Amino acid sequence: MTTVFHDEDADLAALGGETIAVVGYGNQGRSQALNLRDSGLSVVVGNIGDAARARAASEGFSVHDVAEAVARADVVMLLIPDEVMPEVYARDIAPRLRRGACVSFASGYNVAFRLIVPPPELDVVLVAPRMIGPGVRDRYVQGTGFPSFVGVHQDATGRARARMLALAKGIGSTRAGCLALTMEQEAHLDLFTEQGFGPAMGLALRQSIELLVEQGYPPEAVLMELYMSGELAYTAQRFVDTGLVAQMDFHSHTSQYGSMTRSAKLMDVDLKPRLLAALDDIRSGRFAEEWTAEQRAGLPLFNQMKAMREHYPLVEWERRTRKAFRMD
Ligand code: NDP
Repeated sequence: MTTVFHDEDADLAALGGETIAVVGYGNQGRSQALNLRDSGLSVVVGNIGDAARARAASEGFSVHDVAEAVARADVVMLLIPDEVMPEVYARDIAPRLRRGACVSFASGYNVAFRLIVPPPELDVVLVAPRMIGPGVRDRYVQGTGFPSFVGVHQDATGRARARMLALAKGIGSTRAGCLALTMEQEAHLDLFTEQGFGPAMGLALRQSIELLVEQGYPPEAVLMELYMSGELAYTAQRFVDTGLVAQMDFHSHTSQYGSMTRSAKLMDVDLKPRLLAALDDIRSGRFAEEWTAEQRAGLPLFNQMKAMREHYPLVEWERRTRKAFRMD
């Protein structure tokens, strides 16, 4: 059964007298550190010596090297990029964690694919916002909160669940609701959105653009029509607010008739085998192995594909559209 935790399920007192080390002061780290502090919890920041460190200090935090922050803490929130986490964890974090400490992950990836295997004497929890970093802060300040996926992976102290819920409340997430998931489920869903759903949606968009330009429509008009006007983004918010089906009533009858009848004509297109292949790559650990090997090799394919992006005709069409509509 699906469990969703709300404010009344969580008690900040579970972290009373405990020090939380927020490791990393980037997208998530900064927002979560500010929210936890504003919720009355005791926060220190652990960071490498760089610009983010200066920012954390200027915003009033006690900032230390990662190992030092961890040594001072009862709860450690790992908010550094997933790809550097195993190395930083092994070098600076694992040796300094106190017995009975709680380690919190904002993404299930490293634990799910066993790139980090915390010892049994630790509480290990998941508090994974479904919100980008700036939104985590903005929604806290507005008082609306944001959803998260949460879970207890390991309970050494008998307090892991209470600590997890207090962290989720402290960052402002139980206000919107926190759905219980395992590290594996969170990692699989997250990767599937990026590797299954995202590419499928991207393919439909890319082929639509190519087709319309090939058929002689001005690229600027095509991009405006398909996404650059912001209408698509606005409509996507209606998916959330009113539902995918109910939002159809906001469109004209011509639009509704056309999209319903033409969607029916696409019923025979079965993407599921391709989507299942993407999910299999994820669940089997093949994707994680491939990505680890790619990082160890110095990111040759990643860099090659990234360099190719600049040469897509789409990039030039977007530039022209932005200029024509004075969007910069
Ligand atoms: P960022 O890319 O914003 O980086 C976070 C911090 O990590 C920065 O302070 C950065 O320092 C520091 N950092 C980078 N490399 C190292 C290193 N080798 N050693 C120590 N510190 C380092 O990360 P995010 O906030 O995007 O992601 C943090 C976690 O949150 C991840 O687990 C991610 O999956 C998860 N998450 C992210 C979401 C998002 O929207 N971004 C949404 C939900 C979860 P500096 O920049 O100063 O170099």
